[in-house]
Amino acid sequence: MDFKEASLRERRIYYHEEWKEKDVPEFIIERIKEREFAFDHDGNGYNDRYKGFDNVNLFSDFLIKNFPYAVCTSVSYYSKPKNREDWKGAELVFDIDAKDLIVKTCECKAGYVCEKCLFEAKEIVLQIRDTLISDLGIKRLFLVYSGRGYHLRAVDKEILPLERRSEILEYVTGSKRPKELFLFNSYPAVYRKMFILTFAKMTEKDFPFTKNITDSLLSEKENIISKLKAYHVDFLTIKGIGDKTKNDFLSLIEQINSSLVDGKVTVDVKRILRLPSTLHSKVSMKCVEIKNIETFDPLKQAVPQFVHERKD
Ligand SMILES: [Zn+2]
Repeated sequence: MDFKEASLRERRIYYHEEWKEKDVPEFIIERIKEREFAFDHDGNGYNDRYKGFDNVNLFSDFLIKNFPYAVCTSVSYYSKPKNREDWKGAELVFDIDAKDLIVKTCECKAGYVCEKCLFEAKEIVLQIRDTLISDLGIKRLFLVYSGRGYHLRAVDKEILPLERRSEILEYVTGSKRPKELFLFNSYPAVYRKMFILTFAKMTEKDFPFTKNITDSLLSEKENIISKLKAYHVDFLTIKGIGDKTKNDFLSLIEQINSSLVDGKVTVDVKRILRLPSTLHSKVSMKCVEIKNIETFDPLKQAVPQFVHERKD
């Protein structure tokens, strides 16, 4: 896959021949009237904003006529979406973009994605999904492949009015050190799980420490991880590693974990988010609602037909 940009002709083919109204998720359609829509018509940004549609048929007509470069909807509901008036709550959203992952085991340059880092993004999504369901009791959670990563979107009615979302972000990413690291469950368990997820992927280039310290941490990696899993309080007792280094090491992982999710998207309820069923033209992939994340493979389920038909 070369993730090349879609041409105007390919966009027309996509919206005329492949896009189906039924691929717009139910959680969007059920309150479509209350969402703001935003369109990027030429790849220069979302200049056509504050649009509203009373039903999905009208939206469908618009897409077929305009075959836009990109389509977003608000995560918020408004009684008058065209003016963004009378805010009625917002989905709780987590945006995990493979291109922005600091620690990845592939060779991608900054800003690019490949099969390997898309898979690593999916592993992060699975962990966050489990935390949202088991710890926060989220019930109506939808997963979306965004074209270059994943969105988790919760629409439980208890969640919608929440204004302070940064604490939830810290919780699910394990980016704040717990007072007690070895409690059996609740937040310390999330912290340990996210710590292991990140540390397991780290290599020499991910450590800002001296070579000696980096080598010690990496040669003890399996030991550290298995001790953490077994609740050993001395999991970081390593020859040559003092308290300051231990603290720097934990802080490093916390900092990486805080960047797993694009925090601005979670915290800012005025955000717009790519609409599932539409085309991510920059990389020629479909943004799709995921029915089964375990078996989901973006290279099978999110590649539009026109990509297979390309001659070059
Ligand atoms: Zn990659």
